[in-house]
Formats: sequence, C-alpha cells, structure tokens
Amino acid sequence: MRYDLRQGTVREAWETFIPALADKVHGGAEYAENCGACDNRKNCRWCPVYGWLENGRFSAPVAHLCEVAKENKMFKENWQAQHRRYYRIAGITIQVDSDLPIDDQTFHPKFTSFRADGPGADTVTIRHHFGMPDLAGKDLGRELYRKPPWAISRQNGSYIYLGISPQADDPSLHRVATFNADHTRGRIYNDDVRGDSWRKGDVHSLTMFPSDQILIARLLADRRGCYLHSAGAILNGAGVLFVGHSEAGKSTTTNMLIEAGARGDMEVEILCDDRNIVRKYPAANGIPSPQAAEAQKHISSSSTREGHKRIPSPLTGEGEGEGGGEWRVYGTWSHGDVPLVSANDAPLRAICFIEQANENSITPLTDRKEITRRLLACVIKPFVTADWWEKTLDVIGELSNEAPCYVMRFDKTGEIVGEINSVIGSAVHGSTVG
Ligand code: SF4
Repeated sequence: MRYDLRQGTVREAWETFIPALADKVHGGAEYAENCGACDNRKNCRWCPVYGWLENGRFSAPVAHLCEVAKENKMFKENWQAQHRRYYRIAGITIQVDSDLPIDDQTFHPKFTSFRADGPGADTVTIRHHFGMPDLAGKDLGRELYRKPPWAISRQNGSYIYLGISPQADDPSLHRVATFNADHTRGRIYNDDVRGDSWRKGDVHSLTMFPSDQILIARLLADRRGCYLHSAGAILNGAGVLFVGHSEAGKSTTTNMLIEAGARGDMEVEILCDDRNIVRKYPAANGIPSPQAAEAQKHISSSSTREGHKRIPSPLTGEGEGEGGGEWRVYGTWSHGDVPLVSANDAPLRAICFIEQANENSITPLTDRKEITRRLLACVIKPFVTADWWEKTLDVIGELSNEAPCYVMRFDKTGEIVGEINSVIGSAVHGSTVG
C-alpha cells in the first residue's frame, strides 16, 4: 500500500498506483456480504479505512460501528415519531421539530386536517428549543422594527426576532427566533412559560407566536399569495371568498352557507370563517406543487391556435391571458366564531365584498381601483418590510385585474344564499352576473 517516490514518479503514483488501490479497498465477498448489502448503511460511518484500522482488512465490517448505526437509526426513528410533525397549508409544508416531545395533544385540534405525512415539494422547517440563548455581547445586526412585543433585526441576511416586554425598563425576553433570509428555516427559542404551555398541550400556533400568520404571510409573498380577512368556502366545487373586516358578517355568512349545505341547496365545504389564502400558480414554471402540476396538465391539454398553446383564464378555465396561471383559495386554521376549518383548496371563482344591509343583492364590481382598495384593506400583514409590500402589492394588483369581484349586501334571513348560488353558476360558466 505504499509507493516509494524514490523508485518512481509522482505522475505514476497519481495516475496508476493510487487508482489501482481501489480494487484492494472495495469489493470482495466480505464487503458484498456485509457492508455492501447493509440496509443500515445510511446510518453508519463505516468506510474502508475504518475496516482497515479496526480489523486490518478494508472490506471488513466494524462491530462497534454496527452498534452505533443501530442506535443512530433508533434515535432518528424516535425523533421522527416523537419530535417531528408536518403540516401543509396553501401548498407549503411546515416541518415542525421540537426538543420537547410532540404528541397528539400538543397542537390544538384545528390543525388536524392540515397534518401531512412527510415533506412536500416546498418545505419550510422550524425547530423549537426550550431555553433562552445568551445574547449578552452578541451583535444582532441592524434593528428594523421595535414595538412590543417584538424587536426585529437583520444580520448577514438572517432575521432575528426578539420577544420583548411592554415595559421599557424590562430587558427580559420571552422568546427569540432566527430565520434565514426567505424564512424557510427558523429556530425558535422559548422561555419557561412557553415550555410549560407546550407540555400542557392545546397549543394554538405552530410557531408559538401569537399567530402563525407572522411567518406564513411572509412566505406567501414569495409564492404569489396572501392572506385575506375573509370567510372562505368551496361551493359546488368553486372557491369563493367573502371578504370583509371584523363585524362585516363573515361568520354570519359562514353559518348561512352551512345551513344551505345541510338543506341540500348546494354542496358546501367551509374553509375558514375569518382568514383564507389566495395564491396564484404560474401556468408553467413555478414552485412545484400538486396544484401547479394540475394547472400545467390543464394547459397541456388545451387546444392550440396557430401553433401556440392556449393558456386558460386563471378563473374560468376559458379564454387566455398573458402569463396565465390559476388562482386558488386555501383554508387556514385561523378561524373566528365558527371553529370549522379545512385544509382543502379550490380554484378561485368569485370574491364577494360583504356588507350587512336590509336587502339581499350581489352586484359585479368592475372598478379595479376600488377592488384594489378593498383588497388592500383586508390583507393580513406580517412584520411589514419594503420587499414584502412590493411583492404583496403585485399580488393584489394581479388579483384585482383577474378575479371576478362582487359587492354582496345581505340581511340575516338567509335569502342571500340563492344569489350566491347563481353567482357561482355564472362564474363557473364564465358569464357575468347582472
Ligand atoms: S459496519 Fe455494520 S452497520 Fe456499518 S455498514 Fe458495515 S455492516 Fe452495516
């Protein structure tokens, strides 16, 4: 195994001698029967040098590494089962890892329908630690925001969130979170109070922030999506948003739809009565997702004209538009009075701006400036930064240009359901509602 340079050349050593050693290091019956066929190899640190050092043979398995590999496998399986969960919202999978165990009681039941079996094409990871880091003397970078309960700074492209006290003279922190630039990887350090909450269970947010929207609204801006203050439902297969502020009647509308579904007036699946997500999937290239793939299949099967693929309208599936794509509506776990939520999604067919009144009517709204104004008033914001606003303004601009929008005035008699039914029928068939 030694090459004497006094007897040869560097070139011969490099080009002939060393490659020839490969046959001595790899292969052979011993390797093939043991490490070469080992189904635990990915958990093992074995390499031919270990074999040589421990047993004098490059192909020999190493008994203590076999033991370590078994422990490693058990640790990983235990971590997957006891310390990791996946949740999927708006095509984004959130992998939650925690130093404390996660069981079926850790998170509130509202998360149940969002649970996923494993990572998706677009997976974001957050890791919970319980115990606060020592930040004394640490450079936290440039402070971007300070208003209790948060101070946010940026350093080397990463974001640092400090949970600060409302008392100006209290320097204690209740949590610290760090995220990479696009917020796809985060570490969250929780104090003892939050550690106790975790152990008690029924936790209402995956991040243990007051709301997961702080994270998800930011992620959506990079994915051509946003949260809207709205009630959302899938009605006869069509995604419909009833947009309005608190007290506008979102929960009332939701309850009317539930009753209409129970009566059999239409097929109703409630997504969420308070916050829903709209997201546009590009017609061709975009973040991989089942929905994007579905949209792509739709485009591929569309008829051609002058040799070009026809791009379906994002909302009706008919006609064509520059860039194309499909808007979809997604439920969230951020509900209001109606604790009914769904992780399901559907193509967006109508946005209704709701107003309580003494009449029941739905009229088309075509003034794009007015639509933009109404949508902007109902966008849910994370900690606003210039780039988030820029991306979200683009999304809202596009949505106002492409979504069929209506003003819905309604009383509490439930008669509005008939109007909604006819709007859905018209939107699906691509006609307007007079
Ligand atoms: S040392 Fe043991 S566990 Fe590791 S690859 Fe070889 S047979 Fe498998």
